[in-house]
Amino acid sequence: MNSSVFQTPIEYLRGVGLSRAGVLKKELQIALFEDLLNYFPYKYIDRTRFYKIKDIQPELPYVQVLARLTHFEILGEKHTRRLVAQAKDDTGIIELVWFQGVKWIEKTLIIGKVYVLFGKPGFFNGKAQMAHPEMELYNAEAQQRKGNLTLQPAYNSTEKLKQYSLDSKGIQKLVAGLLEQCLRDVHETLPLYIINRFKLTGRAEAYKNIHFPDDPAKLNEAIYRLKFEELFILQLKLLKNKLLHTQKFKGNIFQSVGDTFNNFYHHKLPFPLTNAQKRVLKEIRQDTQRGVQMNRLLQGDVGSGKTVVALMSMLIAIDNGFQTCIMAPTEILANQHYQTIKELIGDDFIEVALLTGSTTKKARNILHEKLENGELKILIGTHALIEDKVQFKNLGFVVIDEQHRFGVEQRAKLWRKNIVPPHILVMTATPIPRTLAMTLYGDLDISVIDELPAGRKPIQTVHFYEAQRLRMFGFMKQEIAKGRQVYVVYPLIQESEKLDLKNLEEGTEVMAHEFPLPDFRISIVHGKMSAADKQFEMNRFIKGETQIMVATTVIEVGVNIPNASVMIIENAERFGLSQLHQLRGRVGRGAEQSFCILMSHSKLSRDGRIRLDTMVKTNNGFEIAETDLQLRGPGNIDGTQQSGVLDLKLANIVTDQELLITVRRFVESIFEKDPYLAAPENQILNQSLRSKEEGLSWNKIS
Ligand code: ADP
Ligand code: MG
Repeated sequence: MNSSVFQTPIEYLRGVGLSRAGVLKKELQIALFEDLLNYFPYKYIDRTRFYKIKDIQPELPYVQVLARLTHFEILGEKHTRRLVAQAKDDTGIIELVWFQGVKWIEKTLIIGKVYVLFGKPGFFNGKAQMAHPEMELYNAEAQQRKGNLTLQPAYNSTEKLKQYSLDSKGIQKLVAGLLEQCLRDVHETLPLYIINRFKLTGRAEAYKNIHFPDDPAKLNEAIYRLKFEELFILQLKLLKNKLLHTQKFKGNIFQSVGDTFNNFYHHKLPFPLTNAQKRVLKEIRQDTQRGVQMNRLLQGDVGSGKTVVALMSMLIAIDNGFQTCIMAPTEILANQHYQTIKELIGDDFIEVALLTGSTTKKARNILHEKLENGELKILIGTHALIEDKVQFKNLGFVVIDEQHRFGVEQRAKLWRKNIVPPHILVMTATPIPRTLAMTLYGDLDISVIDELPAGRKPIQTVHFYEAQRLRMFGFMKQEIAKGRQVYVVYPLIQESEKLDLKNLEEGTEVMAHEFPLPDFRISIVHGKMSAADKQFEMNRFIKGETQIMVATTVIEVGVNIPNASVMIIENAERFGLSQLHQLRGRVGRGAEQSFCILMSHSKLSRDGRIRLDTMVKTNNGFEIAETDLQLRGPGNIDGTQQSGVLDLKLANIVTDQELLITVRRFVESIFEKDPYLAAPENQILNQSLRSKEEGLSWNKIS
């Protein structure tokens, strides 16, 4: 919104005034002209069609009827006083009722005339009825002339607003007034070449038609145009930030690959890399030679081998004289990374240290010193890493695991540990749908490992009901007899933590019965235990001293125990899809055939059923992520709260996927040709970006 007219406080709009402005602001966050302009109808009432009276159904939200007035009378006294009329067409009779404005209505009605009646239908004594219909005398010519005013906007209102006569109709009137006064001030935000190329409606016309559509086709064009603009400006902003970032933040150059990397690669790496892993390494290699800070998101399905890629990138950093660290969201995970990496690189190679909340003060002091003098090259830990006390000599490469649990601010804190910020590799636990990645991580480069190591047997998944519990136990016994280990996971949802713990404890008791010592030993891990106790129990399981691990979702991410080949998920219907997929990913890490058993109640919600069916149907994390997004909508996916996704008013990254992808590609091509948006035809874009920012800050202070 380029000119200031739309920045005018709403109280100055004709028909608003101070008190209405107050409620508009409070109830609908409409403070400025532009807020009202962008307050779109939630639906349109179709006035293109006339219903025959016999076709009226009570479910219809609104109907329009053409009928001749045959009779009316005033009934009742005082509170019950009402005007009842009858009208008929060639199929039946409809009753019309008014409780208010009786006197005035009585004067205007003319028996024998044909009226256009419009309203919400009801039924009374089996007869069609309409209370307070909108009505006007039918005039064939006029009807034809205005044949265009067919879709009526309906606006969301609230009880409070209605007290100020701002129901849907009232809001409609304000919008009509606003458009009349200001439509000519609605300026174009997109260059002509884009408008032509995508055959977009002009902006002013789009605003007119989204509020008062001439016809359904015009409405669709208007919606398309405004969605396009919304996605376009968001992507323009994201990609511009990304570009600015590369212009602003210098990055260390990792000149060469040296002994550390080569030693590891030739003598220690126990398997050949997959092609996808090689490709991603190459991408990271390129990033770290450009002299700008890398900001890369590494996506890959559970078990696709992200950790090795991260480690090998770190080794290159070390080869170039830099320190590195991995930050994990939980202590268990940090531990796990620590173990995995130590195992991969061996004892005699490079020192690896662990820093978590449980690290003793003494150990910590030694650590701090070794970090400051640059002796320690690999540090693994939790957010303990970003405390100010932790100072590196020259941190060059940072891996952030399962990033959605860290805030953007925390990410930035790590950058600030050096004058030249370290390269950043963000790893997600499970894949993110493409469209979400484009918006959520739209300012990062994205690498995808889309290939699992060879020889993995797909995990077999079944869904059992409570009645099949004995079968499940039988299966567990059979697998344990083969030397395998089993996870049994219980949900843990904050609000009912006590109940969940009770479930877990009772379940364990039942199991202890079913699996008697000395053949079976059970580890238990849940959130109420101390970190040391958790680690102790984990270790027993890792060493194979216990065969069954009963746990809450603390084991959700990252835990890697190849001999565990059965995952049993209790109350599986209570888990979200990405969580289920993460949990299942704890098995299938060794050479053995692995299994996942989803236990659930027999009563399932629609979504619950879709989730479990999806799990049984596919092992593909990208597919699962798409379904998850469709079920939950973008607003409920972890991390979206911090992004612009939720600010979208019209566009929806699920249903407008194709458009989003088109727009993203197009914005990329613009920056490729004109990275500084310096071309004359792109000046309008700079303006659009700027006014968007101004608009935002204005909203914040008001
Ligand atoms: P992610 O973190 O992506 O879920 P991990 O990095 O934990 O996956 O790797 C899962 C397992 O697969 C680990 O045991 C790892 O050693 C192993 N692995 C990784 N890459 C390969 C490969 N190219 N071939 C065989 N095994 C691999
Ligand atoms: Mg991992």
